[in-house]
Amino acid sequence: MKTFLKFGAEVLNVFFPNRCVICLEQTVVWSADPVCAECKGRMELNNGAACRVCGEPIDGALPQDFRLCGECRINPPPFDQTLFSLHYEENAKKLIRQFKFYGKAGLAGTIAALMSARLNRELDMETVDMVIPLPLHFLRLFKRGYNQSYLLAGRIAKTFSLPLEWDVLVKTKNAAPQSLLRKSARQKNIRKVFEVVRPEAVSGKNILIVDDLMTTGATLREAAGALKKAGARTVACSVAARA
Ligand SMILES: [Zn+2]
Ligand SMILES: [Zn+2]
Repeated sequence: MKTFLKFGAEVLNVFFPNRCVICLEQTVVWSADPVCAECKGRMELNNGAACRVCGEPIDGALPQDFRLCGECRINPPPFDQTLFSLHYEENAKKLIRQFKFYGKAGLAGTIAALMSARLNRELDMETVDMVIPLPLHFLRLFKRGYNQSYLLAGRIAKTFSLPLEWDVLVKTKNAAPQSLLRKSARQKNIRKVFEVVRPEAVSGKNILIVDDLMTTGATLREAAGALKKAGARTVACSVAARA
């Protein structure tokens, strides 16, 4: 039976070649994982010491509670912790671009598994009350067809048996894509675009917000700020990669 299934998988592979989304090499047998083992091995996992607030890699000699980067000392963000899984090098870039801009929604499982592994190690998940995906404006959602953060947040919530609150935080303005703007313009562009529609749902709660990529952190600052204003106790950010 096993040999038959393997043969079947190989025949399928001839007609519907299964290619790794990163290197585009054809994988040998029909595999459920869209990334080949070699590309996975080449990705730079974030395992080093980091600023406990924004996740910026930092001198590992200090105990975890004292690890705070210069930027977070001067201009503390409204979130309390950031956990990311990948450094944004070439392979991670390809992975996230395929996921976000090329309709490869099936990559959510692979990416969320990396994020969950990091969360499992670094955050006491028993203290988290809910998972909230960073919302997309409905026009952007309509265009893309899916919210990449929602797909990741859904899998993370399931892994840790936590409620997924997707309708608490909404994006009320369709700001220009942050990726098209210079760093200095990003904070201004994103100002006051998020709104908490059910403040009672987040009041006094420990929240985990989920997004695919953190660049300047301006978007996460705004989202966490809105949640804190609505009474959230703590806000941690889980992102797949940090540029
Ligand atoms: Zn590959
Ligand atoms: Zn920091």
